[in-house]
Amino acid sequence: MGSRAVIWFRRDLRIEDNRALIAAINATSGSLLPVFVMDPHLLSVSERRSSYLMAVLRGLDSELGGKLNLIFSSDPAAVVDFAVSAGADEIYATSDFAPLGVAREKLVKEKASEASIVTKFGDSPYLIPPGRLARDQGGWYKVFTPFYKALMKNGYEDPIEVDHSALSGRLELNRRDEEAERWLASPVLFDEAQFPTSNSEAVVSLANFLERSNGRYKELRDFPAVEGTTKLSPALRFGVVHPRQIVALASDAPGGEPLVREVVWRDFYANVLYQMPHTNWKNFNPNFDHIEVDSIDDPNKAAQFQAWKDGRTGYPIVDSAMRQLNETGWMHNRLRMIAASFLVKDIHLPWQLGAKYFMERLLDGDIASNNHSWQWVAGSGTDAAPYFRIFNPIIQSEKFDPEGEFIKRYIPELAEVSSKAIHDPFNRGAAGVYFDPILDHVAARNETLDRYQRLKELFAESETKSITRD
Ligand SMILES: Cc1cc2nc3c(=O)[nH]c(=O)nc-3n(C[C@H](O)[C@H](O)[C@H](O)COP(=O)(O)OP(=O)(O)OC[C@H]3O[C@@H](n4cnc5c(N)ncnc54)[C@H](O)[C@@H]3O)c2cc1C
Repeated sequence: MGSRAVIWFRRDLRIEDNRALIAAINATSGSLLPVFVMDPHLLSVSERRSSYLMAVLRGLDSELGGKLNLIFSSDPAAVVDFAVSAGADEIYATSDFAPLGVAREKLVKEKASEASIVTKFGDSPYLIPPGRLARDQGGWYKVFTPFYKALMKNGYEDPIEVDHSALSGRLELNRRDEEAERWLASPVLFDEAQFPTSNSEAVVSLANFLERSNGRYKELRDFPAVEGTTKLSPALRFGVVHPRQIVALASDAPGGEPLVREVVWRDFYANVLYQMPHTNWKNFNPNFDHIEVDSIDDPNKAAQFQAWKDGRTGYPIVDSAMRQLNETGWMHNRLRMIAASFLVKDIHLPWQLGAKYFMERLLDGDIASNNHSWQWVAGSGTDAAPYFRIFNPIIQSEKFDPEGEFIKRYIPELAEVSSKAIHDPFNRGAAGVYFDPILDHVAARNETLDRYQRLKELFAESETKSITRD
């Protein structure tokens, strides 16, 4: 039995059902040193997401009795130096499967081995660790539905409880970097009532959601004006809650299956990125390297991009979506699809620009779900929307925010506009009340169709992909 063990917290910022923590409790007899390494580069990507992370760390520290060690370092293997200086002989951690996490883990293992420290890494932030689910005929799943079915058939583990009493008296505080302490005191830049930062809050929030939605998740999840989804994505992003806990509760609830299915999308994208790490910023379908895109160096395009980011394209559903993102750090899924489609298929800019902006703003910004969802919209990804699927921002608005209730929440200048005019103020008698549209959707759509057609001709042999989800 190891005597002193480091528990390296990564994307598993909770105590409940934390398998790395449980393994350390069970397999060691001496002190446990929980630690989190703050990487300044990662913190700088998004001020708001970092603020969420700090709130989570504050809560975790308090659950650990103020014994959370904190390191501020850009050295990927800083956790090994910490273990050495603290005299620990083992490091326990939950594996991370995103490209940066994989690289970091490899380095930590190498450095730890040089220092004769044993690394015990396992589990994952997913229902099934990426790379584990193989097709019967060999290879891995590139399409969602077969992946989903295989995962359901394979099954996944139930959450397990942690014996909190086994922690008491064993936790040891050894290091708290000054810069990390400063970050920990960051102001809260998100609504704590909407986005739980501790495991118990997340579980209660889910239970309340399931009760409130009363089996109507599938029906309500597309309407941004209603509280039709869990808003647990930031908690999932940092492992404040594990998907095992979500599916355990959802599976028992009436109408819970569609929610489980959405949670599996997260597993699916993590698996795709794990199998093809370069697809974080490159097209999954390399044919799309040849699609014509406009350049951000063109001042007209730069201005349109800025209007999109600021939520003043003149299309209220797109603008309210972007304002929700800018003001709260979260955006409803239906709106993410509409806003992303507008950037790629109306403004004609590369999906990577939008994905980067989302990563800067989202509390739940996750390289696998975000960048592969962007690719889904652009048509370059797995299960891609066929090229002719171009979201019409006016029809989407009428369908999913019929009374303009959501739009009015984020665009007060449209408060007095009728529910007919609100979807298209410029053409429905409310011109002058709101920004003029920065482009004409019909013309932009035709241009997109032409470009996709030219790409198709270039790769005449490649078939149009089938519709698998909307
Ligand atoms: C362009 C675009 C960018 C996106 N970027 C991200 C991102 O950075 N991080 C992120 O977590 N999700 C992302 N999504 C997926 C989805 O929009 C969010 O997960 C969802 O809106 C989060 O809200 P919720 O927790 O209320 O979801 P719920 O509907 O309550 O679903 C529960 C959980 O299932 C998972 N989930 C639901 N839908 C999806 C989906 N389509 N793909 C993958 N996982 C899903 C999430 O973890 C979510 O928290 C993106 C989608 C699009 C179209």
